[in-house]
Amino acid sequence: MKIFRNGLLIFCCSAALLFCLHNFHFAAKGQTPVLQLKSFQFDNGQWFDGEKFKRQVFYSVGGILTKRKPGKIDEIIDLKNGFVIPPFADAHCHNFDGKWNIAEQTKKYLADGIFYAKVQTNSRRGALEVAANVNTPASVDVSYAHGALTASFGHGVEIYEGLAILRKPGASTPEEVQKIRASKTRENGAYYIIDTAAELELKWRKILDGKPDFLKIYLLTTEEFERRRDRTDTVGDRGLDPALVPTIVKKARAAGLRVSAHVDTVTDYRVALAAGVDEMAHLPGYYVGLEDDAKKYQLTEKDARETSRRKIWVVPAPIAHGSWIKEDARKKTDEVLKHNLSLLRAAKARIAFGSDRYGSTPLDDVLYLSKLGVFSNLEMLKIWTEATPQTIFPNRRIGRLREGYEASFLVTSGNPIEDFKQVKNIRMRFKQGHFVNLQ
Ligand SMILES: [Zn+2]
Repeated sequence: MKIFRNGLLIFCCSAALLFCLHNFHFAAKGQTPVLQLKSFQFDNGQWFDGEKFKRQVFYSVGGILTKRKPGKIDEIIDLKNGFVIPPFADAHCHNFDGKWNIAEQTKKYLADGIFYAKVQTNSRRGALEVAANVNTPASVDVSYAHGALTASFGHGVEIYEGLAILRKPGASTPEEVQKIRASKTRENGAYYIIDTAAELELKWRKILDGKPDFLKIYLLTTEEFERRRDRTDTVGDRGLDPALVPTIVKKARAAGLRVSAHVDTVTDYRVALAAGVDEMAHLPGYYVGLEDDAKKYQLTEKDARETSRRKIWVVPAPIAHGSWIKEDARKKTDEVLKHNLSLLRAAKARIAFGSDRYGSTPLDDVLYLSKLGVFSNLEMLKIWTEATPQTIFPNRRIGRLREGYEASFLVTSGNPIEDFKQVKNIRMRFKQGHFVNLQ
């Protein structure tokens, strides 16, 4: 049924097996396999042990990695000296939100070796639509925020109302601003308006009934909160009242939900830090304009130490690269990015990689971060394969190639510790006891 040539896998599935794979579900979001899986022995692989590559033999039994030889082996796979690493992850995206492009997105993520994704705001309806297309061995494992908590006319509104009524994420004219401000088609699905503590109480049940995997909140330049709140000629430029954040975090904790905060400036970051959120969905300074004061986005050593002490995750999603950005703005942004990342690295804060892009995986963003030179190749690999999956699925045994962990891994042709670009050179993908079929 499977043919191997030069370590590449060619799948010739029978219709029955395909049906079986697509209908293979885990009991609790990828935890325990419910079907009998084939047992594999993997020979001639160099396995990443968290520090280096080590030649060893692993088995996949019931979708779980083990070094103990099982009584029965269905297939022996020759890894041909390939480098075996845990799968990659995307801790900040907005994909997997609707049927129309789910097949294309899934294929792209699996092809780039990205098996886990955290959707940091989505329309709840879109997530329900694709519920059968995610969280299976043949697809990407996704955790969803659903609608984020924001203020009236706040961030999120311009995107989701814009998409709903103008077919684009935001307004470009004063007329469009007013149209979006007047629209409420996606309220209580793609976003929740929370302006007061009373409104939070009133809507809390509804938010929990949506069954989000975590809670997303928006903070946008909170030092200008009042001024932005009072404007009537803009939309999407504001977030929650910072005074509400500690209560929101307390309520989320009581409901067993982790909180991820959109933060733009260091002021936002400190509001989130003091309230005890679990994750900063951005690193301040993801885009620093030429007219911006860079100091607005620069963390201090104290911020970084506090982030580390409180075990808060930070997700740099470096969107400011590529052809759309002017060279001098990119350089200015890079300086802030390097400054902030260096402080977090020195403080040993928890870092996870994300893309924050529609339709693409974080591959280019991670390669861009690697070029900044803040992290060694080994650190980059550990952040992307070990750390990032942890903030997406904190309760799963993923991100390590160890006894008892989920049998999910990638095989690259070259050594990514010597040459980080080898992360692109994937020649085999194995997920929860199954070979990944990209056809
Ligand atoms: Zn985002």
